[in-house]
Amino acid sequence: MIRQNLHSHSIFDDGQSTLEEMTRAAIDAGLTSLGFSVHTPMPFPACWTIEAGRLPDYFAEARRLKHAYRGEVSLYCGAEWDLLSQVSLDGFDYVIGSAHHILVDDEICCVDNTPETTRSYLSGAFCGDADAMAEAYFLQIAALAGVKAVGIVGHFDLLTKFDDAHRFFDPDSPRYRTAALSAMDALVSAGKIFEINTGAVARGYRKTPYPSRALLTALCDMGGRITVSSDAHRTEDVTFAFADAEALARACGFTDLWQFDGRGFIPMPV
Ligand SMILES: [Zn+2]
Ligand SMILES: [Zn+2]
Repeated sequence: MIRQNLHSHSIFDDGQSTLEEMTRAAIDAGLTSLGFSVHTPMPFPACWTIEAGRLPDYFAEARRLKHAYRGEVSLYCGAEWDLLSQVSLDGFDYVIGSAHHILVDDEICCVDNTPETTRSYLSGAFCGDADAMAEAYFLQIAALAGVKAVGIVGHFDLLTKFDDAHRFFDPDSPRYRTAALSAMDALVSAGKIFEINTGAVARGYRKTPYPSRALLTALCDMGGRITVSSDAHRTEDVTFAFADAEALARACGFTDLWQFDGRGFIPMPV
C-alpha cells in the first residue's frame, strides 16, 4: 500500500482545503507522509498560484503543522514549480517541476485550461499540426532536466488532459512518440523521478492517470523511477485511485516506487 503523496494543493493556491485539513485527511487515509506542493507564482497574473507575498505564510503554516503532527505523519513543504515561474526554489523540501504551457514566439499556450483552449492553440499557433504541438510541449518539459532543484517531473503528458478519446493528438504517431521518448530520455538521464498522477482522473477529465500506459512501459524499459501522487486539490482526493496506480505500475514492470524521506528519495517495493 502506498503511504505517501507528494502532490497536493490547498487554499494557498487553487486547492479547496487548508493545509491542516489535507494533513488530517492524509492521516485518516493511512498515509505516513504528505507533501504540500504549492503552485509557485508566475510572471503574469495567475489565479491558480500562491501570491508571492504569501509564501512566508505558507512556509510558516507548514512549519507549524510539521511540529503539531510530529509522530502522526511526516509533512514536507514542497512546491509545484512551473517552467515559466521565476521564484527562487530555496527553502522548499522538494520540488515537482511541471510544464503547464507551451511558448510559441510571444504566445503562452496553457495546455491544461479547457478543451476549447487546447483546440484553439492547435488550430491557431500550430496551424492544425498536432505533432508539432506535441513536439513543442515535450521540448518544453525536457528542459526540466537542466533544473537541479527539480526532483519530480509533474504529469509528464499533461497536454493529453482533454484527450482520452485522441481527438487532438495521436500518441502512436512517430513524431509524437519520438518527441515524448526523447524528453523522457533526457529527464531519466538527469535522474528525475516521474509521477503516476491520478489528479485528472479524480477531477473527471481522464479515465487513466498520467503518463499513458505506453509511456510508462517505455519509462520502465529506460530504467526510469516513479512515484505515485494524486495531485489532490481537496481532502477527498488525497489518495485517489492509489491502488489502481500501484497495480498499473506493477503491470508496466516497475518493482519499486520512490519515496521522499526528507533528504532524498528511497525505493519501496511496489
Ligand atoms: Zn500541475
Ligand atoms: Zn498540481
